Amino acid sequence: MGWDFSTEPEFQQKLDWVEQFCREEVEPLEYVFPYAVRSKDPKIRGLVRGLQDQVKAQGLWAIFLDEDLGGPGYGQLKLGLLNEILGRYSSAPQMFGAAAPDTGNMEMLAAYGTEEQKERWLTPMLNQELWSAYSMTEPQGGSDPNLFRTFATRDGDEWVINGEKWFTSAGRVADILFVMCTNGMFVVPRLTPGVEIQPEPRNHNHIIYNEVRIPLDHLLGPEDGAKVLAQRRLGGGRIHHAMRTIAQCKLAFDMMCERALSRESHGKTIAEHQMVQEKIADSYASIAMLRLFVLETAWKIDHTSTQETRTDIAAVKYSMAKVLREVSFNALHILGSLGTTNLTPLQAMYAAAPTMGIADGVDEVHKSTVARNVLKGYRPHEGYWPTEYFPAKRKAAQEKFEPLFTADPELRVLADGYAKYFAGRS
Ligand SMILES: Cc1cc2nc3c(=O)[nH]c(=O)nc-3n(C[C@H](O)[C@H](O)[C@H](O)COP(=O)(O)OP(=O)(O)OC[C@H]3O[C@@H](n4cnc5c(N)ncnc54)[C@H](O)[C@@H]3O)c2cc1C
Repeated sequence: MGWDFSTEPEFQQKLDWVEQFCREEVEPLEYVFPYAVRSKDPKIRGLVRGLQDQVKAQGLWAIFLDEDLGGPGYGQLKLGLLNEILGRYSSAPQMFGAAAPDTGNMEMLAAYGTEEQKERWLTPMLNQELWSAYSMTEPQGGSDPNLFRTFATRDGDEWVINGEKWFTSAGRVADILFVMCTNGMFVVPRLTPGVEIQPEPRNHNHIIYNEVRIPLDHLLGPEDGAKVLAQRRLGGGRIHHAMRTIAQCKLAFDMMCERALSRESHGKTIAEHQMVQEKIADSYASIAMLRLFVLETAWKIDHTSTQETRTDIAAVKYSMAKVLREVSFNALHILGSLGTTNLTPLQAMYAAAPTMGIADGVDEVHKSTVARNVLKGYRPHEGYWPTEYFPAKRKAAQEKFEPLFTADPELRVLADGYAKYFAGRS
């Protein structure tokens, strides 16, 4: 009987190392040199490389890639446990070579790229010598890929892409863009003529692809395969977000508990007021439920596949947004006026909560997916009454007992007595 919530001691040692490393090395670097991982300054890069070499020496570099894709093959459950720590520190995922949007793009390359494509793009991406972005959403139809229009036309030795994409995160600073066209997934170097990045929004870019010409070998995977590649990419990405969200929720929880014990109001510590205790208790339970759900889903992916786990991945996606909303609100509220400032992580965390319900697909779409998939396991009942309709169940049970009653009439009298008693109560 396998039913175990413990972590292998050897991996726990690694997690302990990660926790200490992030707290003592990654976080201080982040405060002194924000966004150091993307810096082009050789001195700052040297500091980053020094830390990344330690990660590599631990065998924890880019562990999101499964073994069959050339990664260390830790699997999603262990990645979940690791991300539970990394998600607390904004630069930690990049320090471990496991940050979105590059992870999803690398996963697509590893799964669908030719050897030549992997050498050209995947290897430098794994070494963080090349950065990428993912260009899928379009201004006229974000939640519905059937409304997408961006299209690649073949012209001799080239593909010519025309279309418009919205909210390509970090597109402005990416070296290559993974562009989802209605007839395939294409890799477009950002500096290709015709890639027109609009001035706004600044971080999640609006990009017009205007007669963008790329060689034929920039098609990734099969022609017309974009939706399959996108599903593969987003399936992993969603659960990785959820794992890191647990870390954010725990951070908010730690902050609310510490503060509740530190402040006094109306004759006692805040922690002694029952309505504060309710927030702490609710947050505690919500985080525990989310954590178990995320880790169980990761475990299911390891034992089946992303595709077979898609219902749970979708359910995890909207659940994590909900828990983050609840817990970050509770923490912000318990910190009072301080919580509303930008002097702690809480304000940004609470502001990010609605974003989590939109990025990688809006809650409503995931909820519809879950409901549709779950309903496939059910059938309508026959006749007027549901399966659990008591009178029908009693009648069936009476029929099952009929041979016993015939053999032993006293048993029938007893059963009639019960029936009368319960009929009298209803
Ligand atoms: C922080 C962030 C980063 C992102 N990064 C990227 C990126 O790197 N690359 C990329 O391509 N895209 C990216 N996106 C875009 C993201 O994929 C889209 O925002 C998302 O798919 C929703 O599309 P939309 O914003 O156009 O909303 P819409 O599709 O307009 O939906 C708006 C609202 O309409 C309602 N709605 C829509 N559809 C349904 C439905 N079927 N049932 C019920 N209600 C519905 C919901 O209330 C929904 O919130 C990012 C988004 C965010 C917030």
